[in-house]
Amino acid sequence: MFAVRIEELADANIDVLDTALAAAKRKRDEADVDIAAITAVVDARQLFQEHSQSTIKAYLKQQLNCSGPDALRIKRRARLFNQHPEIADVFANSRISAGQVDAMATAQQHPRAGDQFADFAALFVSQAERLEHDEFTAAIKHFITQADQDGAFNDQKFHEDQRTASVRVDDGAISMHASGGDPLSAAEMKRIFDLAVEAEAHKDFETRRKLYGNDALAQPMPRSADQRRFDAVHAIFMASVTAAADGKRPEPLVNIILDATTSLEVLARHGFLDLTTNNHDTNDHNRDHNRDHNRDHDDLAATDPTTRRCATSTGVALHPDIAMKAMLYGSIRRVIVDAHDVIINMGRTQRLFTGKARHAAQLLAVQCGYRGCDIPAEFCDVDHIEPWINGGETNQANSMPLCGPHDRRKHTKQLSGRRDRHGRIHLITPNGTVIKPLNAPDPQWAEPQPKPEQPRRHRQYTWDQWVTKHPELTNLPAPPHGTTFSDLRPAA
Ligand SMILES: [Zn+2]
Repeated sequence: MFAVRIEELADANIDVLDTALAAAKRKRDEADVDIAAITAVVDARQLFQEHSQSTIKAYLKQQLNCSGPDALRIKRRARLFNQHPEIADVFANSRISAGQVDAMATAQQHPRAGDQFADFAALFVSQAERLEHDEFTAAIKHFITQADQDGAFNDQKFHEDQRTASVRVDDGAISMHASGGDPLSAAEMKRIFDLAVEAEAHKDFETRRKLYGNDALAQPMPRSADQRRFDAVHAIFMASVTAAADGKRPEPLVNIILDATTSLEVLARHGFLDLTTNNHDTNDHNRDHNRDHNRDHDDLAATDPTTRRCATSTGVALHPDIAMKAMLYGSIRRVIVDAHDVIINMGRTQRLFTGKARHAAQLLAVQCGYRGCDIPAEFCDVDHIEPWINGGETNQANSMPLCGPHDRRKHTKQLSGRRDRHGRIHLITPNGTVIKPLNAPDPQWAEPQPKPEQPRRHRQYTWDQWVTKHPELTNLPAPPHGTTFSDLRPAA
């Protein structure tokens, strides 16, 4: 079958292959929903006993010859769909991915956060359709942290308490291991490691360029990626006994991104702020309100867990208490974003994103804005969504980090950016096709279709001309001399 299929597809263009992939994905998603339905029935009626199995997991392992984790995943999906058939329908329609379904199943079956999942299920489904996989799983983690503040804190505390490291020399070679720690140290250490690896790569580029000149790109690098990572660790060790040339502490390496609501809540929870006097939006009120199943969409938007942020700029979720510690004792820069994710606005004075505007725009995004690209935002250029020539401003709301190749692609393919109702930017081809996963619906737009638009000219009238058109105004006192009136209604 495979060889026949290869034969059929061998000469197909990418459009045909994309369509075939969309159809295959749909078939697979439908089959996954069917497997979950069968699993739910066998589980509910305990029919696995007929095969001398004592659990549904063992039954699935026996019948599907799958791994334990795979069996568990199917069992969890079955339980999620059983409670929320609407999620199964969207999945069977191929509009969300299996990974997103599994993330929702984890949240729904979480021992402490699980009972709040039903309140947010509808919202998660709509978010799953528009968020990239990694962003969606981050949003689910935020939900669990928010819903289970104590548990999440205990988990992070556990890792912090269990932190350990060892460096040994065996037969003249080093062997090292480190694990645990709090999420902030984890984010800092990872960031320092990544920067050191990057620095080693630059050394290799430089060596290669010196050796081969113009021919350098075609030549292999002097060291392998593994060797550069080892040398990066060595450089980090050496740096700890070498003072910086200017003797100053380096710029903060990791930023904490917090939304305004979360930062106020955490300060209030620890008695640094009193939100009770004139604020109806306290936690308890929200929670009761969310349990009210007659709530409308505005309420949903107000408590949308995916608008909450408490993470490092490298995407590591933080417990709000750890962010607060940094606020109080912080050597760490923290950034508070508003409901529209805007940090600062530099206005239309600068053409290129540089300095603070560039940095702020990069902080919002963890990686390149092109779907599927993993290049971290800090290595990206910041691009105008609405081109500067068309009046696009140099500010955060009009910016999108794109890596070098994707930035060039945006310009050569004349892609434009358009914002959806949730503030997220999508890239669109000149013929109006949205770049999105196969089978996913188009986003709900917040902005009209971007087009190079001339400023609209409205006819202007003096007061005398205006009064002739609107006799009912004749008896009113005339406005200051020189006042003009514009008719904004479309011309009849
Ligand atoms: Zn990219």
